[in-house]
Amino acid sequence: YDDRDGKIWMDGKLVEWRSANVHILTHALHYASSVFEGERAYNGKIFESVKHSERLHKSGELLDMPIPYTIDEIEKAKYDVLKANGWDDAYVRVVAWRGAGEDMGVASKKNPVRMAVAAWEWGAYYGDAKMKGAKLDISKWKRPSPETIPCHAKAAGLYMICTMSKHAAEAKGCSDAMMFDYRGYVAEATGANIFFVKDGEVHTPKPDAFLNGITRQTVIGMLQKRGITVHERHIMPEELEGFEQCWLTGTAAEVTPVGQIGDYTFEVGALTRDIAESYEKLVRS
Ligand code: PMP
Repeated sequence: YDDRDGKIWMDGKLVEWRSANVHILTHALHYASSVFEGERAYNGKIFESVKHSERLHKSGELLDMPIPYTIDEIEKAKYDVLKANGWDDAYVRVVAWRGAGEDMGVASKKNPVRMAVAAWEWGAYYGDAKMKGAKLDISKWKRPSPETIPCHAKAAGLYMICTMSKHAAEAKGCSDAMMFDYRGYVAEATGANIFFVKDGEVHTPKPDAFLNGITRQTVIGMLQKRGITVHERHIMPEELEGFEQCWLTGTAAEVTPVGQIGDYTFEVGALTRDIAESYEKLVRS
């Protein structure tokens, strides 16, 4: 994937895709001093672009590594990348990290914060069977407590257990894994938030130990506009059995119906289909 034509924005300028490299002594590679964003452009417009750039700034602050570009500069960089590659529909990845420098120990203040923007064409995150209902495994890893990690940052270090969970899920023939949090409440999938439907009302975990996704917030707004009650609350594992429908939300996942979590099954019902279709319309409007 690295050896191909195209342009990537790196530290203020567009460079050739295949030469967008970093040094092996990059601090982030050793100590996870890295924050990122995942965004999607539809018909040439990045959905909630500024919100993503603001979240990148916030993630940088949370990790004590201020992003050395303004929101406007980040916005321009993203659109420059789309234009340089000639894409209207693409996934956009912004990443900022501590580079190589004098600090090769745990401290990193002497090393520059660097930033890059890449984009690529990326279809349905859970494959072609998207509307059939994804099958999820239950992860053995728990989302960590806010006292152990800045859990509201979109930071590379938070994804180690996500990758391991997703590998274990795929080995069992599942598309993803649902994770509980450190208290045992239902939290989210490895790269997406989760929603449940029961008796015409919607229940979704309260985002006090994981990322309050931009898609999650958009979907809550869509539900409220329809007059549907949304309960943001702590959800116990025992409750999974009683839920009728389930879906995931995320920039990459968009709105993906879930058909199964472990031994619990869900129908791809009318509300799930309505929200998935309406989200698709919204991002393209
Ligand atoms: N949780 C995690 C762990 C994620 O990686 C993502 C994707 N960024 C989300 C939730 C959903 O966030 P968003 O809707 O902002 O993409």
